[in-house]
Amino acid sequence: MTPCLQFPGGARFAFTVIDDTDDGTVDNVRPIYRLLESLGMRTTKTVWPVRCPEGSGDFWLSETMDDAHYRDFLVDLQARGFEMAFHGATMETSPRERTVRALECFRRVFGAPPRIHANHAFNRDNLYWGAARVDDPVLRRLYRFVSPQTPDFYQGHCPGSPYWWGDLCVAQIEYVRNLTFSEINVLRVNPSMPYRDPTRPYVRWWFSAADADDVDEFNNLLRPEHQQQLEEEGGVCVVATHFGKRFARDGKPHPDTQRLLELLAARNGWFPPVGELLDWLRARRESECLAAGEWHQMQWRWAWDLLARRARALAHQSQRGAMALWRDGLSPHLRST
Ligand SMILES: [Zn+2]
Repeated sequence: MTPCLQFPGGARFAFTVIDDTDDGTVDNVRPIYRLLESLGMRTTKTVWPVRCPEGSGDFWLSETMDDAHYRDFLVDLQARGFEMAFHGATMETSPRERTVRALECFRRVFGAPPRIHANHAFNRDNLYWGAARVDDPVLRRLYRFVSPQTPDFYQGHCPGSPYWWGDLCVAQIEYVRNLTFSEINVLRVNPSMPYRDPTRPYVRWWFSAADADDVDEFNNLLRPEHQQQLEEEGGVCVVATHFGKRFARDGKPHPDTQRLLELLAARNGWFPPVGELLDWLRARRESECLAAGEWHQMQWRWAWDLLARRARALAHQSQRGAMALWRDGLSPHLRST
């Protein structure tokens, strides 16, 4: 059940975004940040402080703070009130030395260490990632069954590992994202956010988010009926997305995204960056930890939503494949034989 919250300024709900930097460049994210700013919204952007000289198959298009024009854009964004956060040192796995260098670079450029971190993809320096995201023994077994990685693949939280940086995380970083859901009001699933987890000691506080991988999922999450639900329930939405994934074209924001964000901004909402929102929620927590029942439900809801998203993505892919085959003048049946 959503706790009854009195938001600042008499707002009826809270909304923000954590934009992971995958595929992000100045050109493809600036239009959406200008739009957010014009609507009075201040959100959070993760960054990669250092380049990835060994190359990256999936993320090579992304810019990092080693690109001067991207770094300048981020510094300007911070001055405009947006929050900068950590997405690991760079787009591929980093040994401790590179993470140390990246955290130093972050502090030098932005004047303070990151307050927020989100793990990235298959980086081995991720903390408590893969099957270690959950405790439920059934879900852990299932995860290991479908995952290509070995159980000890992610080692950011393992002292002695070449990828270890848990000591730096707990010393410098306040909040780390774990589970995400297909739900606009995150408090419906995780009313006790942010929370501490004594079994994962290298993270101070955890938070959850609503998952929207790209512009289509973001626009679906922000449908008017979902906005209405968020407001009626007095809820909190932290969207985990990637503004680098088709949110802008030819220097303009996606028209549907623009329309939906304008609609949201016209409602009586509070639109702070993630860190400010979590500080505010935390100040209202009576206890620091998560009830066992809440954690149990969160894990199963996460697994269910993950499965449903994968199934939708597969169906979408096969639909697009079938359409391409029709365009080629071949039926799927003929191609498959
Ligand atoms: Zn990422």
